[in-house]
Amino acid sequence: MRLLTIHDVNDVRLDPYERPEAGPKDVVVKMKACGICGSDLSYIKNGGIPTPGKLTALGHEGAGELMFVGADVTGVSVGQSVIINPMMTPSYIGSGGPEGAFTEELLVRDARLGDSLLPIPDGIPYDVAAMCEPLSVACTGSTGRRRRRATRS
Ligand SMILES: [Zn+2]
Repeated sequence: MRLLTIHDVNDVRLDPYERPEAGPKDVVVKMKACGICGSDLSYIKNGGIPTPGKLTALGHEGAGELMFVGADVTGVSVGQSVIINPMMTPSYIGSGGPEGAFTEELLVRDARLGDSLLPIPDGIPYDVAAMCEPLSVACTGSTGRRRRRATRS
Protein backbone atom coordinates (compact mmCIF):
# COMPACT_ATOMS: atom_id res chain seq x y z
CA MET A 1 0.00 0.00 0.00
CA ARG A 2 0.93 3.64 -0.24
CA LEU A 3 0.25 6.75 1.85
CA LEU A 4 0.64 10.39 0.83
CA THR A 5 2.86 12.18 3.37
CA ILE A 6 4.58 15.52 3.83
CA HIS A 7 8.33 15.19 4.42
CA ASP A 8 9.31 18.86 4.41
CA VAL A 9 8.30 22.25 3.00
CA ASN A 10 6.75 21.60 -0.44
CA ASP A 11 8.00 17.98 -0.28
CA VAL A 12 5.09 15.54 -0.59
CA ARG A 13 5.71 11.87 -1.33
CA LEU A 14 3.69 8.75 -1.98
CA ASP A 15 5.41 6.46 0.52
CA PRO A 16 5.18 2.70 0.95
CA TYR A 17 2.74 2.04 3.79
CA GLU A 18 1.67 -0.91 5.86
CA ARG A 19 -1.76 -0.41 7.34
CA PRO A 20 -1.91 -1.25 11.06
CA GLU A 21 -3.97 -4.29 11.98
CA ALA A 22 -7.59 -3.38 12.70
CA GLY A 23 -9.03 -4.24 16.11
CA PRO A 24 -12.56 -5.07 17.29
CA LYS A 25 -13.50 -1.37 17.63
CA ASP A 26 -12.08 -0.40 14.22
CA VAL A 27 -13.14 -0.46 10.59
CA VAL A 28 -11.10 -0.40 7.39
CA VAL A 29 -12.34 1.67 4.46
CA LYS A 30 -11.35 0.93 0.86
CA MET A 31 -10.82 4.52 -0.23
CA LYS A 32 -12.67 5.69 -3.35
CA ALA A 33 -12.29 9.50 -3.22
CA CYS A 34 -10.58 12.18 -1.15
CA GLY A 35 -10.63 15.96 -1.47
CA ILE A 36 -7.63 18.26 -1.30
CA CYS A 37 -8.33 20.97 1.25
CA GLY A 38 -6.90 24.46 1.70
CA SER A 39 -5.63 23.16 5.03
CA ASP A 40 -3.67 20.44 3.17
CA LEU A 41 -2.03 23.14 1.03
CA SER A 42 -1.08 25.07 4.18
CA TYR A 43 0.36 21.90 5.75
CA ILE A 44 2.47 21.35 2.60
CA LYS A 45 3.64 24.97 2.53
CA ASN A 46 4.64 24.70 6.22
CA GLY A 47 6.34 21.31 5.90
CA GLY A 48 3.61 19.44 7.76
CA ILE A 49 1.83 19.61 11.08
CA PRO A 50 4.51 19.87 13.77
CA THR A 51 4.69 16.43 15.39
CA PRO A 52 8.16 15.56 16.70
CA GLY A 53 9.72 12.73 14.74
CA LYS A 54 6.62 12.11 12.59
CA LEU A 55 5.69 12.79 8.99
CA THR A 56 2.28 14.31 8.26
CA ALA A 57 -0.17 11.91 6.62
CA LEU A 58 -2.46 13.77 4.22
CA GLY A 59 -6.19 13.43 3.52
CA HIS A 60 -9.14 14.25 5.74
CA GLU A 61 -12.01 14.51 3.22
CA GLY A 62 -12.49 10.86 2.40
CA ALA A 63 -15.22 8.52 1.22
CA GLY A 64 -15.10 4.83 0.51
CA GLU A 65 -16.47 1.34 1.06
CA LEU A 66 -16.19 -0.64 4.28
CA MET A 67 -13.99 -3.68 3.72
CA PHE A 68 -13.60 -4.69 7.39
CA VAL A 69 -15.89 -4.08 10.36
CA GLY A 70 -14.63 -4.96 13.85
CA ALA A 71 -16.78 -7.22 16.04
CA ASP A 72 -17.61 -4.39 18.47
CA VAL A 73 -18.65 -1.87 15.78
CA THR A 74 -22.43 -1.72 15.37
CA GLY A 75 -24.78 -0.39 12.69
CA VAL A 76 -22.48 -0.77 9.68
CA SER A 77 -21.50 -3.68 7.50
CA VAL A 78 -18.88 -4.70 4.96
CA GLY A 79 -19.69 -3.28 1.53
CA GLN A 80 -21.44 -0.18 2.90
CA SER A 81 -20.44 3.23 1.50
CA VAL A 82 -19.34 5.75 4.11
CA ILE A 83 -17.90 9.19 4.67
CA ILE A 84 -15.24 9.48 7.36
CA ASN A 85 -15.53 12.40 9.79
CA PRO A 86 -11.83 12.88 10.60
CA MET A 87 -12.34 15.12 13.62
CA MET A 88 -14.38 12.43 15.36
CA THR A 89 -11.59 9.86 15.05
CA PRO A 90 -9.11 9.45 17.92
CA SER A 91 -6.20 9.62 15.46
CA TYR A 92 -7.35 12.84 13.69
CA ILE A 93 -7.11 11.32 10.23
CA GLY A 94 -5.16 13.58 7.89
CA SER A 95 -4.88 16.23 10.59
CA GLY A 96 -1.70 15.30 12.46
CA GLY A 97 -2.30 11.65 13.30
CA PRO A 98 -0.70 8.52 11.85
CA GLU A 99 -3.47 7.86 9.30
CA GLY A 100 -4.36 9.86 6.21
CA ALA A 101 -7.16 9.25 3.72
CA PHE A 102 -4.87 9.42 0.67
CA THR A 103 -4.24 5.68 0.85
CA GLU A 104 -5.82 2.51 -0.50
CA GLU A 105 -7.07 1.11 2.84
CA LEU A 106 -7.81 3.54 5.67
CA LEU A 107 -7.89 2.36 9.28
CA VAL A 108 -10.58 4.19 11.26
CA ARG A 109 -9.92 3.58 14.93
CA ASP A 110 -12.78 3.35 17.45
CA ALA A 111 -15.33 3.75 14.63
CA ARG A 112 -18.89 4.79 15.47
CA LEU A 113 -21.84 5.20 13.11
CA GLY A 114 -23.17 8.76 13.15
CA ASP A 115 -19.96 10.01 14.67
CA SER A 116 -16.78 9.06 12.82
CA LEU A 117 -18.70 7.20 10.08
CA LEU A 118 -21.63 8.55 8.09
CA PRO A 119 -23.49 6.39 5.55
CA ILE A 120 -23.60 7.63 1.95
CA PRO A 121 -27.13 7.57 0.50
CA ASP A 122 -27.69 5.50 -2.65
CA GLY A 123 -26.94 7.35 -5.87
CA ILE A 124 -24.37 9.76 -4.44
CA PRO A 125 -20.99 9.27 -6.19
CA TYR A 126 -17.94 8.93 -3.95
CA ASP A 127 -16.30 12.12 -5.24
CA VAL A 128 -19.42 14.10 -4.35
CA ALA A 129 -19.76 12.37 -0.96
CA ALA A 130 -16.15 13.26 -0.13
CA MET A 131 -17.16 16.94 -0.28
CA CYS A 132 -19.37 16.47 2.81
CA GLU A 133 -16.52 17.45 5.14
CA PRO A 134 -15.69 20.81 3.47
CA LEU A 135 -19.43 21.50 3.05
CA SER A 136 -19.95 20.97 6.78
CA VAL A 137 -17.04 23.32 7.53
CA ALA A 138 -18.56 25.97 5.27
CA CYS A 139 -22.02 25.58 6.80
CA THR A 140 -20.71 25.63 10.37
CA GLY A 141 -18.53 28.70 9.75
CA SER A 142 -21.44 30.51 8.14
CA THR A 143 -23.75 29.61 11.02
CA GLY A 144 -21.15 30.79 13.50
CA ARG A 145 -20.97 34.23 11.87
CA ARG A 146 -24.75 34.56 11.87
CA ARG A 147 -24.89 33.59 15.54
CA ARG A 148 -22.26 36.18 16.46
CA ARG A 149 -24.13 38.90 14.60
CA ALA A 150 -27.39 37.84 16.24
CA THR A 151 -25.93 38.10 19.74
CA ARG A 152 -24.57 41.62 19.10
CA SER A 153 -27.91 43.14 18.06
ZN1 LIG B 1 -10.51 20.30 5.02
